[in-house]
Amino acid sequence: MSELALLAEKADAADELAPIRSRFVLDDHDDVVYLDGNSLGALPAGVPGRLEDVVRHQWGRLRIRSWEESGWWTAPERIGDRIAPLVGAGPGRIVVGDSTSVNIFKALVAAIRMAGDGRDELLVDASTFPTDGYIAESAARLTGRTLRPVTPAEVPEALGDRTAAVLLNHVDYRTGRLHDLPSLTASIHAHGALAVWDLCHSAGALPVGLDEHGVDLAVGCTYKYLNGGPGSPAFLYVRGALQDRFDSPLPGWNSHADPFGMSPAYAPAAGAPRGRVGTPDILSMLALEAALEAWDGVSITAVRAKSLALTDFFLKCVTAYTEPGRVESVTPEPHEERGSQVALRCAEAGEVMKRLIERGVVGDFRRPDILRFGFTPLYVSFSEVERAARVLGEVLA
Ligand SMILES: *Cc1c(COP(=O)(O)O)cnc(C)c1O
Repeated sequence: MSELALLAEKADAADELAPIRSRFVLDDHDDVVYLDGNSLGALPAGVPGRLEDVVRHQWGRLRIRSWEESGWWTAPERIGDRIAPLVGAGPGRIVVGDSTSVNIFKALVAAIRMAGDGRDELLVDASTFPTDGYIAESAARLTGRTLRPVTPAEVPEALGDRTAAVLLNHVDYRTGRLHDLPSLTASIHAHGALAVWDLCHSAGALPVGLDEHGVDLAVGCTYKYLNGGPGSPAFLYVRGALQDRFDSPLPGWNSHADPFGMSPAYAPAAGAPRGRVGTPDILSMLALEAALEAWDGVSITAVRAKSLALTDFFLKCVTAYTEPGRVESVTPEPHEERGSQVALRCAEAGEVMKRLIERGVVGDFRRPDILRFGFTPLYVSFSEVERAARVLGEVLA
């Protein structure tokens, strides 16, 4: 056994999160290393049984009664409160529902409205995941603001008394770079603007500290590190002090103060329900709730520590197993600038990823030249990391 394989065995033996792996359905028998949990998290073992019950009993037998008796009606806030400690939010701040894209729209337009009429500029991360950029452009056009794409590093200089709001990604989806949320949020506030954070690649991967750092609005995805399943609903956070001023651009009957009053006039609900729109997607929502049970007793601090150890170890193994110059990491080396993924620049990355997947190492390819590997500390082991790097070295040899 190689020295790195021995190191991996030792690290697995000392890993306090190792037992959590059994809470997931993984292919232990066919030797697949799943490093794509930052795109679609693995299936938590409790989900199929819960969904079976939701469909056969709650829907099949109780039918309409389930809105009350099975807690369907209150699920968006109940599940929001389950996510809250993972992102450093107090209870009553988060609502679950709709896609990330839709929630970015709600958050941005609401932020612009709260910033007031005198502020006519919206800043957006120039390297953002495309949907965020498209929606920022549309939100700016709808509200008559000017959109200015800037890199997160340029934000402090770009801020001014014209800035209404800034939309930033906590972790860059392509490079895995972690941006400095506390300091950027503080600069944004120093200029009187609102900070809107996209947590798609940090929720469930590292501590976020939403309340602590005074983030105004945040949106996150639940099918990545939170393992909620394909298309599971996103979440929306609104800072406590702003909840009464949150003016949704998509007010629906579900966010009305008296939804069953069926009034023609809109009156917004108080608190987190104000972020709702229409009838929640109950099947996906309750699959997510079951998936979140995999987090019982797990601290996000322990997850972060293991995530950094996994990505450190992967980089070390890649250096040892790969001919010099074949790949170049575009993920920052310093821990405080690294999310839970490693992105390697590589010639013919598309073809390389195809061959990796054929050999049971599942990451993904991001055009034009990036091999992307996500590390989910709840179920990825050090031995798997060593194997993935070894297979990569063989494929590139
Ligand atoms: C995954 C991801 C999304 C996904 O948005 P959907 O509406 O769920 O398709 C949005 N933004 C970022 C930064 C992402 O990483």
